[in-house]
Amino acid sequence: MKKGLILVVGSSNTDMIVRLDRLPLPGETLIGGQFSTAPGGKGANQAVGAARAGGRVAFVGRVGEDALGRSALENLRRDGVDVRHAVRDRGAPSGVAFIFVARGGENSIAVASGANDRLSPADVGRARSAFRQAGVLLVQLETPLSTVAQAVYLASKAGARVILNPAPARPLPDRILRRVSILTPNEHEAELLTGIKVNGDSGAARAAKALLRRGVGAVIVTLGARGAFVADGKSQGLVRGFKVKAVDTTAAGDIFNGALAVALAEGRTVPDAVRFAQAAAAISVTRPGAQPSAPLRAEIDRLLRSTA
Ligand code: ADP
Repeated sequence: MKKGLILVVGSSNTDMIVRLDRLPLPGETLIGGQFSTAPGGKGANQAVGAARAGGRVAFVGRVGEDALGRSALENLRRDGVDVRHAVRDRGAPSGVAFIFVARGGENSIAVASGANDRLSPADVGRARSAFRQAGVLLVQLETPLSTVAQAVYLASKAGARVILNPAPARPLPDRILRRVSILTPNEHEAELLTGIKVNGDSGAARAAKALLRRGVGAVIVTLGARGAFVADGKSQGLVRGFKVKAVDTTAAGDIFNGALAVALAEGRTVPDAVRFAQAAAAISVTRPGAQPSAPLRAEIDRLLRSTA
């Protein structure tokens, strides 16, 4: 059986965006906004990022039995993501994020996780056949921790590499960390997980060391435009990012993780995979939006060739 599948276990949301001159105050009704919707949720973003980067991808998540859930899954399917293991839930609405964006870029966000909060260890268990084919499991923290733990357990038992993107940040037990091949916090998440201030390479190095000590195979601390600090216990150092003109860094981390999974599933080394992931993320920040900004494989390869 082919083992190259990238299995994403995680959240899917619909972003409901209203652009306004300024943010509404409590109790205030503000007229004159412009409305748009966009598919989101870290799990879905990373699945689309991986599929566009050339991966064979399956998604395990939960959406409501409603129009938003239908279109969220349809959207994943359009990018070639296998959603046969995703669950439609009659008992909860699909996940949504209400996002107000003021003219100056300031925002205010309310998330109702809905069905995402009901993604269960049993849901993950039912995706057994996908775990058997998985080369890489990619998982985040927008679903219950018991579900994350079950996914990590099944993947490591099946011999798949486990990438855990610890976002949004929350404390993690060692029994999960011990089974993680690669942990990918940003600076803020690395700080929350370790209590170590991460500003600059020395802070990133110390935080990475603390996480390696807790049993993680390798740590990649993403550092925004600077790049990423990579440590695997044998070697460590900064891998510089690509210089681009950023217009919207939303979901840079999601695109990074999706592309990282693809490169690892193809058998690349961690430093090579980080370079590939940084190229994908760099292209994504030159474009507006989250999922729409995810680049195709040909674009990533072109950037890598032009800077080789
Ligand atoms: P998150 O979105 O999770 O906060 P980061 O901001 O650290 O994550 O970004 C993830 C990766 O995206 C970085 O390691 C880098 O490779 C790339 N990236 C982010 N911002 C930029 C930028 N302004 N220019 C180039 N690459 C960027």
